[in-house]
Amino acid sequence: MKHVLVTGGAGFIGSHFVKRIIRAEDVARVTVLDALTYAGHIENLGMAFLSDKLRFVHGDIRDAAVVDSLMASGPTAVVHFAAESHVDRSYNAADAFLSTNVLGTRVLVDAAQRHGVDKFVHVSTDEVYGPWLEGAATEDSPLRPSVPYAVSKAAADLVALGAHQTLGLPLCVTRSSNNYGPYQYPEKVMPLFVTRLLRGVPVTLHDRGQHVRNWLHVEDNCAGIEAVLRDGEPGEVYNLGGGTDLSTKELTGHLLNICGATWDAVMYIPDRPSNDARYSIDWSKARDQLGYRPAHHLEDGLAETAEWYRRNSDRWAPLTSGGMRRRTAPPALRPSLAPLEDGRAC
Ligand code: NAD
Repeated sequence: MKHVLVTGGAGFIGSHFVKRIIRAEDVARVTVLDALTYAGHIENLGMAFLSDKLRFVHGDIRDAAVVDSLMASGPTAVVHFAAESHVDRSYNAADAFLSTNVLGTRVLVDAAQRHGVDKFVHVSTDEVYGPWLEGAATEDSPLRPSVPYAVSKAAADLVALGAHQTLGLPLCVTRSSNNYGPYQYPEKVMPLFVTRLLRGVPVTLHDRGQHVRNWLHVEDNCAGIEAVLRDGEPGEVYNLGGGTDLSTKELTGHLLNICGATWDAVMYIPDRPSNDARYSIDWSKARDQLGYRPAHHLEDGLAETAEWYRRNSDRWAPLTSGGMRRRTAPPALRPSLAPLEDGRAC
């Protein structure tokens, strides 16, 4: 594995992955392709820029010319994170989600196949299985996405797997549960609640906060993605779960404790449309076949994450006041920007 092309490497999970994979001795070069939307920040790559292995390309995965020239530069592997990723935004911007998540994936897999990439990892989500009220979805379970974000990711998964089946692209799909950790844009529930509670601002829970999600530390997800990159069988899907199941209300309880706030800081608001009650994935395939095992404990991981937001208020304060959001929002999303205060379950 000499040269890894990482799309969306300036985002939350992608930047953690770049900082991990760049340390691998058998990786000589890491190229990041990122459009730097409102959610992407080059600062997320931090210390990775000290390595002469890193090359950053500001560009869009839907731009076939840019993607083709990057694939021609000889990456042996591609890890594809770039996406519109926020469920709340997807209700009002479904076209932008379909465009980046589905058409962008098609541009990438086509170019990767043409240029003979050895391995392509398409990063997806447990939300493609839709709500799972009992038990856990396996990789063979039907895709029943409900919210527009999940619909676009499920369609992208099919585009990606189709490129394996019809074009022979050596491709794997990962589907992980909800990630948490430092460097996440403060619109999703964990960083949104922490940044609000640290400022003494109330947080809002949809309905009674009963929606259940599995909370996985971002570094555990990145370890799983690396295992799939190295040893995953082409054509296979791997669920990456094994975090902690919590209702949004239970998560809120942890965050109130960590931030020194009380339930007085919590307001209840009506639920959003099709807010899936529960997601749950069976991750035994990745455990048994690839040795994937999440290592982070929830309490430690949440405390460490909240501490990161406390220490880095200079980074996120401009985001929560709207300045940087306006500066970098892509035109397609501008009319639909929801206030950052809209809480959500994932
Ligand atoms: P993010 O929103 O933090 O980052 C997305 C990155 O993609 C940003 O850097 C953005 O600039 C870039 N991007 C967006 N559109 C682009 C385009 N057209 N061209 C090039 N770059 C573009 O997202 P994240 O939370 O880091 O998620 C990364 C991937 O993991 C996504 O595919 C997401 O669906 C998946 N995922 C996320 C979670 C989670 O809990 N965050 C869970 C499961 C799966």
